[in-house]
Amino acid sequence: MTVSTRYISTRNAAASATLSEALARGLAPDGGLYVPERLPALDLAAFSGLTRLPDLARQALQGFFYADRLQYELAGITEAALDMAAPTTAVEACADPLSVLELYHGPTAAFKDFGARFLAESLQRLESAQPLPLTILVATSGDTGGAVAAAFYRRPWVRVVILYPKGLVSPRQEQQLTCWGENVRSLRVEGSFDDCQRMVKEAFVDPQLRRRHRFSSANSINIGRLLPQMAYYIASSLEIRRRTGRSGSYIIPAGNLGNAFAAVWARELGLPIDRIVLAHNSNCTVPDYLQSGEWRPRASIATLASAMDVGNPSNMERLRSMYPAIDSLRAQLSADSVDDAAICARISADYREFGRTWCPHTATAAEVYRRLPAEARQERPWVLVATAHPAKFNEIVEPLIGRPIAVPGDLAKLLSLPQHRTDVAPSLASLAAALA
Ligand SMILES: *Cc1c(COP(=O)(O)O)cnc(C)c1O
Repeated sequence: MTVSTRYISTRNAAASATLSEALARGLAPDGGLYVPERLPALDLAAFSGLTRLPDLARQALQGFFYADRLQYELAGITEAALDMAAPTTAVEACADPLSVLELYHGPTAAFKDFGARFLAESLQRLESAQPLPLTILVATSGDTGGAVAAAFYRRPWVRVVILYPKGLVSPRQEQQLTCWGENVRSLRVEGSFDDCQRMVKEAFVDPQLRRRHRFSSANSINIGRLLPQMAYYIASSLEIRRRTGRSGSYIIPAGNLGNAFAAVWARELGLPIDRIVLAHNSNCTVPDYLQSGEWRPRASIATLASAMDVGNPSNMERLRSMYPAIDSLRAQLSADSVDDAAICARISADYREFGRTWCPHTATAAEVYRRLPAEARQERPWVLVATAHPAKFNEIVEPLIGRPIAVPGDLAKLLSLPQHRTDVAPSLASLAAALA
């Protein structure tokens, strides 16, 4: 390998940046999202014998970091951020070859821990010498805010400001958003998730605020959230290959498509991944697009799988830049939509039949799996991507399965801490006042 990987904006291939610049900026200056100009080549043989996520990630991301300021930090970043379990477990009670990729063993019990921790470790190595602390603004529909707070908590070079919609996150999600204090501020917004996102966007472009604060974003527009997620698809697909001799097919609960995008990259790099299927809730912008070929983003609607309540998925811009023709995108992905009633029915049925308990997000993937023709379920090793632990959504899941869900240790610790939060109106002025 002799050249560094450049990162270009989805809106202008001529405006390129280094990886460090892309990580620090989040969004490209023209409003586009950063993507690698070309995917670095990967030697799959180099993975042989590796099973820990930090080792797999270091190997996979070498080319992405080559000749960047962070090149020699990569090993330290992956070690500090990704030493978490992400097992692919077989669903024993299922007669067909079905497995679950469990992404909920991190500190906030959702897959967003992988991206948030990796971004925090990367920015720490770029930021700690800056005089003015970074202010990370996060609009969250539930899980992102908690994962970002956990990842950046008590790092002196950064302050995190979380905006979440009042009454629209689960009680345990709210606890995870508000149990921090110190360098984490939690703002409960009298409005919707869309209001939270709008306030963040307005703050980013407000000249007065920008003079006083150095803003950055930790939403999945930041490429630093996406890169590390490839590691668990690498681990899982190699494991399925070892176990079955076949390529795994993945059904991924999807909102902003950040998780799914990492699977698409991993497959492009040559990992043994066959089908990628997106499971959406009733926010069906993407399934409609794949069907009609017309991109029609819309306002989000509230569902039980609230972390996927996205009407205008931001990472679609990355997918469309990779596969500009609708038919080439259709060749990569398929998508389906699952409503709240089907989510509930699937949680009950799979608990009875398989003894497995899904969170409402994971249940969309389980339902999409059941809608596959029986032959399709027999002939391929399918993997459901479990994006959060069901204990985070106990008030939804426990009545459906008729028993309490044991709370994982890390989550239990967070649940016992006092809450710190400020109520704000859904306006830029109230955000500005809270930032002062
Ligand atoms: C964020 C989230 C999703 C959606 O992931 P995207 O990367 O936005 O598509 C799914 N499930 C859970 C539990 C989440 O927190």
